[in-house]
Amino acid sequence: MARLYVKMKDQDNVVVAVRDIAAGTEIMEGLKARQDIPQAHKIALCDIPAKGAVIRYGVVLGYALRDIKRGDWINEHMLDLPESPSLDNMEFGTELVRPEELPKPSRTTWMGYKNAKGPAGTRNLLGIVTTVQCAAGVVKVAVEQIKRELLPRYPHVDGVVAVTHPYGCGVAIQAPLAPIPIRAIANLIRHPNFGGEIMVVGLGCEKLTYDRILPKEDITSENVLTLQDYAGHDAMMRAITEMAERKLERLNQRTREELPLKDLFVGMQCGGSDAFSGISANPSAGYAADMLVRGGATVMFSEVTEVRDGVHILARRCVDAHTRDRLAEEMRWYDEYLAAGGVGRDANPTPGNKKGGLANIVEKAMGSIAKSGTSPIVQVLSLAEKPTKHGLIYGATPASDIVCGPSQVASGIGLQVFMTGRGTPYGLEICPVIKVCSRNELKNHWFDLIDISAGDVATGERSIAEVGQEIFDMILDVASGIKAPCSDRYGFHNDMCIFNPAPIT
Ligand code: CA
Repeated sequence: MARLYVKMKDQDNVVVAVRDIAAGTEIMEGLKARQDIPQAHKIALCDIPAKGAVIRYGVVLGYALRDIKRGDWINEHMLDLPESPSLDNMEFGTELVRPEELPKPSRTTWMGYKNAKGPAGTRNLLGIVTTVQCAAGVVKVAVEQIKRELLPRYPHVDGVVAVTHPYGCGVAIQAPLAPIPIRAIANLIRHPNFGGEIMVVGLGCEKLTYDRILPKEDITSENVLTLQDYAGHDAMMRAITEMAERKLERLNQRTREELPLKDLFVGMQCGGSDAFSGISANPSAGYAADMLVRGGATVMFSEVTEVRDGVHILARRCVDAHTRDRLAEEMRWYDEYLAAGGVGRDANPTPGNKKGGLANIVEKAMGSIAKSGTSPIVQVLSLAEKPTKHGLIYGATPASDIVCGPSQVASGIGLQVFMTGRGTPYGLEICPVIKVCSRNELKNHWFDLIDISAGDVATGERSIAEVGQEIFDMILDVASGIKAPCSDRYGFHNDMCIFNPAPIT
């Protein structure tokens, strides 16, 4: 029997409605809903006076703007946002879970494409990367032609991807922040799913010159091609397809082999979240993350504004002072970035998040960090940096789905697990994305767009461990090429929105 509400921690003075609850319904003994309560929204367990703390997840979500009565619906209009946790002298290393305390992975190998160094590939793709948006139109047309005319002759290659982005020219290339988008593009060229084959197409007059993204030895006529060197459409297409064919011949010789989990690198993201995300989908993904980490894999979670209010909790999981300091540094940078733009962290959440019961960014953050599981944080990276350690990594990126995705891809993830409450058709072309929803209603509605529902955890009919196991199995099946997630089945792929915090000229 499905339950009516979820309480996260003993000290909480609110519960979350598992389904729409009509006014007058007895929620628990002696407690009746005083208004209609929408699914995923909060109900007060006791009278909370104006300025009193509203507590969920054992943390203060905010302070009541007016008197709240027992049984009242609590929504986003009723809370005052508390101060962000301080970034100074955060306690670290006090909550380090030992490997043997993590859930044991039921499988310890997968089938991937081994690379000379770094994580293995989950797909075998030819990636054609532009240096500048001006070349994007040509490359997209060329890729369609390559897929039509060449790809069928190379059955061991999974696809050809036009990696286009808005950066490259009309930008302040010497700006102190320019290394962020430049690093992202440089690392995309060497994504593990591209098997070390470099193919870069430039226009010829852009600011992002080849030497900014490639070492000297890789800037050869085998790897880079400049559109302004060619006489018109036919010559350009011929040059691109000929270069592509040489790469396809080599890629076609790659085969999957049985690999340890150590060679797998998985990213975690959530978007279109609701108040169930932190109850069902994110903790289940966190359980799968813990299994992966125990098995030696690398797992990255990100999204600065969605961890900012839980940063003191994450700091306790940092393995040393340096990692804690790096975490604080990334948060501080983002605080200043938001302030420079004249906004605060309350610019997040979205209208959809609020409709889904998330009152403010504190509540969203507490749900968001659950996808990191419980493992120690071994490294903190800036946007698009590649990890040098195995285990749980924090990679600082914006929380925006379409920016976080490409940033994690640039760091080298071979697969992303994406949790959603409201629903998004989001997908990435360079690596597969498994979508996990927080409520069964969404899975029923979007039966062919969502891969896994964690909704039974919200209703109390399945455990986090059971759904976590299902996610873990799907990660290994998708990474091994045995299964395709919904977004790949339909070719629903988002653009590579590279984060550029530097000025445009
Ligand atoms: Ca997101």
